[in-house]
Amino acid sequence: MFPLIKDILAMNPDSGELRVRGWVRTKREMKNLVFVEVNDGSCLANLQCTFDGIPVPAGLSTGASVEITGRLVASPAQGQTVELAASALRVVGGAPAEDVPADGAAGNGGTGNAVRAYPLQKKRHSLEFLREMPHLRGRTNTIGAVMRVRSALAFAVHSFFRERGFLYLHTPIITGNDAEGAGAMFRVTAQGPAETAKAAKDGAETAAEFFGRESFLTVSGQLEAETYATALSRVYSFGPTFRAEHSNTARHLAEFWMIEPEAAFFTLSDNMALAEAFLKYLFSAVLEECGNDLCFFDTRVEKGIIDNLKSVIDSRFTHMTYTRAVAELEKANQSFEYKPYWGCDMQSEHEKYLTEKVAGGPVIVTDYPREIKAFYMKQNGDGKTVRAMDVLVPRLGEIIGGSEREDDPGVLQNRMAELGMNAESYDWYLDLRRYGSVPHSGFGLGFERLVQYVTGMANIRDVIPYPRAAGQLY
Ligand code: ATP
Ligand code: MN
Repeated sequence: MFPLIKDILAMNPDSGELRVRGWVRTKREMKNLVFVEVNDGSCLANLQCTFDGIPVPAGLSTGASVEITGRLVASPAQGQTVELAASALRVVGGAPAEDVPADGAAGNGGTGNAVRAYPLQKKRHSLEFLREMPHLRGRTNTIGAVMRVRSALAFAVHSFFRERGFLYLHTPIITGNDAEGAGAMFRVTAQGPAETAKAAKDGAETAAEFFGRESFLTVSGQLEAETYATALSRVYSFGPTFRAEHSNTARHLAEFWMIEPEAAFFTLSDNMALAEAFLKYLFSAVLEECGNDLCFFDTRVEKGIIDNLKSVIDSRFTHMTYTRAVAELEKANQSFEYKPYWGCDMQSEHEKYLTEKVAGGPVIVTDYPREIKAFYMKQNGDGKTVRAMDVLVPRLGEIIGGSEREDDPGVLQNRMAELGMNAESYDWYLDLRRYGSVPHSGFGLGFERLVQYVTGMANIRDVIPYPRAAGQLY
């Protein structure tokens, strides 16, 4: 395979004739000298190609794809050790610098259609502007760096679990149950408008459902992961998750990816240790693999982010019960928008206070009031709290939520009844507690929240290739 720019930049000068392929970022013309910066997305850096006394074809403009042949030489320029002294250049696909009218499309595939000028010619574009063109924004420094970090993190997720005996489990995307009332669900149907209309005419409310019952896009793979954890001991799912969130926030998407490990014979404290090791592993991996991209985020997006990640890696996570956390908040000499009290759902201002002011680092809060947590969490003997854990980090607040699961069928059934849940449709879930029940635990980490944390990107829509949110489907 021919080398990528990241490989070329690591080569020694004079390694013979090379050919580079990529897209033109900039072109600077001097008297006899032309500099072309080429990027192929394999790394943040461009490869500078110099044309000394060689004619440069007309179609060579920002955005064009090119194939350039030359020799690698030591670069006199700052910030790069090598550059390509070009001997030949081919424009593979042009990208007009100005609008091309319908009849003047020669050189653009000869289709005769009008072509707008390449939209990404400026040095910097706002992220809002780029969101309007997810099909092109990967060609910018910022989105390119985000996607490289995203890929590195995804691989690190798999390596972490693989090294610890967790099996990668593909939990279903179409489901018949709402995992935990976690959020509004998208309904899945094979019915077209015509069938719906016909059913209405025939007096039926709806035509027969494809699955014979209502079906949805999953909001979490946890319950299914639990079933396989009690067969394979340690599993994790890592896949797309859907929530019909109408909240238009910088932290919510309608389609996002979630990582959910689940492990048999894991108590809450095993689960806490796993979550801490997991975050440290991911941060170390990305620091090691994406150093240049992180430097970019550190200077351009969020100052100090590298030190911040390093300090999490070097820290010992503070453990604190919910009851103690609330006591800390109540005695804080700082006023909160939401007044803390025992029983309150913690807000991110509270979470930031605990990490930044009380602990000076990550905090794992445990034993939350059962009223504010999901039905499947293991009840403590006090009748008030459950064995839940939230991992809070400075700057963001909650990054992971998890728990030990209720493994006693009677206790679980009572809780479900209290909450008015339909026990029949969870019969399979109760079976896990009826046959060979074991203590088990797990947690969930929203992958995009992780990418946001690592890059410092403010809006979640900028850390996924194609963001889906209410009113937005490009
Ligand atoms: P939040 O309070 O932020 O809405 P949640 O309590 O609904 O989160 P969980 O149901 O515990 O979240 O889901 C597990 C993880 O999935 C969260 O910690 C978060 O990282 C992520 N997550 C939840 N909802 C979304 C969303 N709409 N878009 C992106 N990530 C999400
Ligand atoms: Mn939510």
